[in-house]
Amino acid sequence: MRRFAAVLLIVNLIVPSLAFSADQAPLAGYAPSSSTTERDWEAKFRAIPDPANLKEYMRRLSARPHHVGSPYDKDNAEWILARFKEWGLDAHIETFDVLFPTPKIRVLEMVEPTKFTAKLEEPAIAIDPTSNQKSEQLPTYNAYSSDGNVTAPLVFVNYGLPEDYEKLDRLGISVKGAIVIAKYYQSWRGVKPKVAAEHGAIGCLIYSEPKDDGYSRDNVFPQGPMRPADGVQRGSVMDFASSNPGDPLTPGYVASPEHPRLAIKDAKSITKIPVLPISYGDAQPLLAALKGPMAPDEWKGSLPISYHVGPGPAKVHLKVEFNWDLKPVNDVIAKIPGSVAPDEWIIRGNHHDGWVNGAEDPISGQAPLLEEARALSLLLKQGWKPRRTIIYAAWDGEEPMLLGSTEWVEAHADELRQHAAVYINTDGNDRGLLSMGGSHTLEQFINGVARDIEDPETKMTVWQRLQLSNIAQAKSADDRKELRQRPDLRIAALGSGTDFTGFLDHLGIATLDLGFAGEDEQGIYHSIYDDFYWYMHFSDYDFIYGRALSQTVGTSVMRLADAEVLPFDFVDFADTIQKYTKDLEKLLADKQEEIRERNQELEEGVFKATLDPRRPTVAPMKEEVPPHLNFAPMQNAADALAKSADHYRQAWSHKQSTLSETQAESLGALNQQLIESERKLTNDDGLPRRSWYKHLLYAPGVYSGYDVKTVPSVREGIEQKRYAEAEQEIVRVAKALQDESALIDSAAHLLEK
Ligand SMILES: [Zn+2]
Repeated sequence: MRRFAAVLLIVNLIVPSLAFSADQAPLAGYAPSSSTTERDWEAKFRAIPDPANLKEYMRRLSARPHHVGSPYDKDNAEWILARFKEWGLDAHIETFDVLFPTPKIRVLEMVEPTKFTAKLEEPAIAIDPTSNQKSEQLPTYNAYSSDGNVTAPLVFVNYGLPEDYEKLDRLGISVKGAIVIAKYYQSWRGVKPKVAAEHGAIGCLIYSEPKDDGYSRDNVFPQGPMRPADGVQRGSVMDFASSNPGDPLTPGYVASPEHPRLAIKDAKSITKIPVLPISYGDAQPLLAALKGPMAPDEWKGSLPISYHVGPGPAKVHLKVEFNWDLKPVNDVIAKIPGSVAPDEWIIRGNHHDGWVNGAEDPISGQAPLLEEARALSLLLKQGWKPRRTIIYAAWDGEEPMLLGSTEWVEAHADELRQHAAVYINTDGNDRGLLSMGGSHTLEQFINGVARDIEDPETKMTVWQRLQLSNIAQAKSADDRKELRQRPDLRIAALGSGTDFTGFLDHLGIATLDLGFAGEDEQGIYHSIYDDFYWYMHFSDYDFIYGRALSQTVGTSVMRLADAEVLPFDFVDFADTIQKYTKDLEKLLADKQEEIRERNQELEEGVFKATLDPRRPTVAPMKEEVPPHLNFAPMQNAADALAKSADHYRQAWSHKQSTLSETQAESLGALNQQLIESERKLTNDDGLPRRSWYKHLLYAPGVYSGYDVKTVPSVREGIEQKRYAEAEQEIVRVAKALQDESALIDSAAHLLEK
C-alpha cells in the first residue's frame, strides 16, 4: 500500500559507461574463495528474470478484483501456491480469520444551502477492459471507519494535520460538532479522522485534490496517468500507529480459534468517528458552498473555486454502515531449507491482495517476487545450496492494515525471534531510482548490492544513478560533499505502511524495504483504474524495472543466505545514531527558540499591530519555554557505539582472509550474536502508550502514520511536550545502545579468537 510521493528530476548526465570489474574485493561476510563462487551464482541468477514472465504474472493476478475475502483473492493465493510447487519449492497456505469490514450503506449529501447528493461511484471507462467489473469491485470507502449517521456544518481543514488545527484556532474556528473535509496526502489517511475526533469533529471526509494527484500534475486517466474527476482513493483508516496493525480483535496475538476475540466496541484501532473518501467531483460542490474566512494560501488547491474554511453554510449528512465480518486471509509461504545453517532464516515478502485489481499496488512487486522464486529454484536444480533457510511469502490482507503479515508474525513470534536474520520487503514497483530503506546495520550491505545491479535505462549501476541523482537534488554544498565522499548512500529509516512492520517494529528483525520509483506520476492509487491497462500505458510496461527489482532483491537474498558471516556492519549504523542524537538536540533547541520568539512578539504587540479588523485572527497563547534535557546518556552511548563499530570492522577485515579455516560452530555463535543485534534495539515494554511497538529507534509516528519517527519515544516526547517522559526515554534508549555496543564488541572478540 505504500506510495512514493516524491517526484524526482532525472537530469541528463553524461557518464562513462561502467564496466563491472571481475576483480572486485571479496564480499563482506565471505571468505575470498567463497566470495568468487557466490558472485558466479549471483551472475547466473541475474540472467534469469524475464520481463515476459513478469507481464504474464501481472496480467493473470490483476485480471479481476482481488481484495480480502473475494473469490479472486483466494484464487490468486492458490495460483501462487501452484507456481511455487511447480518450481519444486516446499510451499503451503496459512489462513487467519480476521475482522474486515465492507460497506453496507454509504450516503453523503449536502442538505444546506442547496441540495447535492454525492455519486460515490467510479465509472467504468470503455477503453479500460477491467474497469467494468462492477459486481466484484469494493465500493469506495475507508476500512475500519466506525458506523455513523451525522448531519453537521462542514469545515475545510487542509490536510487535517495537528498544525492545520492550530491555524484554524488562529482563525477563530472550531470543528467541535462539525464534519471536516480534509485533502489526501501529507499524512497517512488514518491520522485525519483521529486528529479531527480529538478536536471534537463528528465526521470526516477525505478527498483527492487535483493539485496533488489530478489534472494539475498531468492528464487524467485514460488520457494520462492521473486521477479522473470521479476517481477515489480507498484505504484503511485503522489507527494502527497508536495501537497495532493486524486484526483489531486480536491485538498482539494471533487470530485463531484458541484465542478469545475482543468485542468490536472494544477494538482500539477502529476510528472514533465515521469517515468516507470522496472524489474531487463529489468534493467540489461541497467546498464551493463553504463561506467564512478564505483558506490560507498554502491550503488552496486547483479546483475552479474560492477555497473558504467554513464552518458552513454548507451542511452535510454523512451516513455509513459496514458489514463487520470475519474474512480469511491466505498467506502463501515457500521455504528453501538451508544446507549449513537451516536455523538462520532470510525472509522475503510482498503482498498479493489489492483494493481492486491492484496492478501497480501490489502486483508490480509481487510479480518480481515470483520471478525471483522461479530463478532460485532453477539455481537449486543446477546445484546451488544456500547456507541459510530462505522463506518467500506472498502476504494477503496488507491493504486493510498488514493483516496477513502481522498475524503470521504473531503466530510464529517465538521461532522468528530465534531464527529470523533479515526480512526484505517490497510493495509495488515503478520506473526510476532504487529506493532503499531499512535497518542501518544493513546500510553498507544494500549499498554493495546496488553497486552490482545495472540500471536498465542508463546502463550505469543503480547505485551510481542514485548517487548522481541525489547530487542533482541536494539542497546544500554540505549534502553534495557527503554524497561525493561518504562510501555509502544513506538509507531511509522505516516507518510503516507495508508488511515489514511486524518484523521490524514488533520483533526487532533487521529489515530492508526496496523498490524503484520516481520517473512516472500516478493518480490511480487504490482506485478501480489501478489495473493492467493503466500499468501497460503509464508505468514500467516493458517490465525492465520489474526485472531490475527481481535482480536487486534476489541478489540480496542470496548474498545474505550464503555468507559465512552475516554481512551486518555497524559503522554506518553508529554514524546514523550520532546524527539522530544531534537531530534530537536541534529539535529541542528549535522549539525553545520558536516559543521564546513568539512570547517576545506577544509582549511587543506584534499580533495587535498586524491584526486586520475585517479579517480578524486570534493571537496564539503564551507558552512556557521547554526545559533543557540531558542528552549526555545518548551522546555517551553513541560514542561507545562508534568505538565498537570500528572494533568489529577491524576484527572482520583481519579475519576475512583466513575465514575458510574457521570452525563452523564458532561461526554459528557469531551469527547468532549478529542476529541478536537488531533485537537488542527493542524493549519488551515497548513504546509509551503503544507497547506492541518494541523497537526503540524506528516506529511510525502517532500523528504521521506511515512516516517514520526515529528514536520515537524521545522525539515524540519533545514534539508532544512530554518533556519529563522524553528525558526518561533518553536513558532507556541509551541503555539499549550501550547493550548493543557490548554485543558488537563481543562479536568482534569472537572474530579475534
Ligand atoms: Zn501495497
